[in-house]
Amino acid sequence: MARVIAVANQKGGVGKTTTVVNLGASLAAAEQRTLIIDCDPQANTTSALGFPKDPARRTLYQVLVLDEVTERVIIGTKVDRLELIPSDKNLVGASVELVSAEEREYRLKRAIKGLQDRYAFVLIDCPPALDLLTLNALAAADAILVPIQCEYLALEGVSELLDTLMRLRRTVNPSLAIEGILLTMYDDRTTLSRQVASDLRSFFGSQVFETTIPRNVRLAEAPSHGLPVMFYDIHSKGAESYIQLAKEVIANAQKRVGQGSERIDSGAGAASAASAGAARSSPSSGSVVADRSSSSGSGGPSTGA
Ligand code: ATP
Ligand code: MG
Repeated sequence: MARVIAVANQKGGVGKTTTVVNLGASLAAAEQRTLIIDCDPQANTTSALGFPKDPARRTLYQVLVLDEVTERVIIGTKVDRLELIPSDKNLVGASVELVSAEEREYRLKRAIKGLQDRYAFVLIDCPPALDLLTLNALAAADAILVPIQCEYLALEGVSELLDTLMRLRRTVNPSLAIEGILLTMYDDRTTLSRQVASDLRSFFGSQVFETTIPRNVRLAEAPSHGLPVMFYDIHSKGAESYIQLAKEVIANAQKRVGQGSERIDSGAGAASAASAGAARSSPSSGSVVADRSSSSGSGGPSTGA
């Protein structure tokens, strides 16, 4: 069964699309069959993978709104084992057109149900909003991956997002786990970047990926060539970091299989502690957030789900 990961943060420009494209390509290069779903009407993922605007191309819009068969919308990319459900600007209308549709939060979940044994990973790129499209992505996902830009006030947006996560668990998706928090556009020459990274790590503990994504111009250039960075400049720091992230994601998946269960409960505990803590104050050392130590086998599930 595929691991379905929604890459989401309602804040714009934090590296969601860059992460979906480059993690997707790195997973595929590591022999993991991967499907990318572009769930953002901006269609940046679609164009970054080399598909310029084409009104004739079928997209996620047809699937969500017109009940098109999902297989008919999937296209291959230049990368072996990497496939795409593209987006286009019509998707903006989906929220409005689905207003009176039954179970409108679950349309994406339903659409990908039959595909799950074809892929090892499904990555969903979300728009920078907590709208119906993001809701569909998070209802369909096993876990959420949250890219955070290492900048001033980074934590504020995250605590808002984690509040939303807790709400989602009570409503559309009780088993939604946290795949991880990813520090993006990290610049180790600036004190601010280092400070924000260290605050986030002491606050969220092992929920933060060990891999950080550096600020790297190759990552910004690659989309205009329609290529993931590893096929544009394999020696760049950007390429290296996403390959490293893919290794971490694969290792976590293998760990889960080894344990025979999800880390949902520990994720839920940490998320609620985090949003409570973030609401109270800015982070400091000795964070209130429980370390995700149960993933290494010491803690065990904290609450029943
Ligand atoms: P949106 O919320 O609009 O969908 P996003 O969260 O998907 O944005 P991206 O489009 O991935 O963010 O990144 C925003 C901009 O920053 C893009 O121009 C991208 O090329 C650039 N960028 C992303 N990550 C990096 C990085 N690590 N180093 C340098 N530039 C980056
Ligand atoms: Mg984007």
